[in-house]
Amino acid sequence: MIMNEIDMKKFAQKLGEQLQAGDVIVLTGELGSGKTTFTKGIGLGLGIKQMIKSPTYTIVREYEGRLPLYHMDVYRIGDDPDSIDLDEYLFNTGVTVIEWGNLLAQDLPDNYLEIIFDYTADGRNLTLKPHGEHYHQYL
Ligand code: ADP
Ligand code: MG
Repeated sequence: MIMNEIDMKKFAQKLGEQLQAGDVIVLTGELGSGKTTFTKGIGLGLGIKQMIKSPTYTIVREYEGRLPLYHMDVYRIGDDPDSIDLDEYLFNTGVTVIEWGNLLAQDLPDNYLEIIFDYTADGRNLTLKPHGEHYHQYL
């Protein structure tokens, strides 16, 4: 589905309202394709009041909302996944959103929802790709 920025954020907000502890969302797409913008929408849905900023340099940022949000951008550690203790977040009480999570490959859990972002002239084309039984049912 092709969405402009406003519609995409609304969609992300709705997703954020549904999310539960332990949910993992992987955002896949080129630089500038809308991954951080989408995460801001998720943050609205989780009731987070703080401004969500790109975690490119910090790797991970935590926010408090209805549930904690662990927002990661693993672009810089893609070739060295051991530099972050991913499980500390994945098996915690919050929601994990990972920009460039596809780079972590085998370190990802069995169940996660991947959202793929592609450029179009009218906005971004989003493809939802469930990995594992949980997200097949979820959609
Ligand atoms: P990423 O995190 O993937 O690098 P960002 O979320 O930072 O990308 O977005 C990059 C730029 O694209 C921003 O200027 C943002 O306003 C714009 N943008 C984000 N989503 C959309 C969209 N669905 N349609 C058009 N522009 C968008
Ligand atoms: Mg980003």
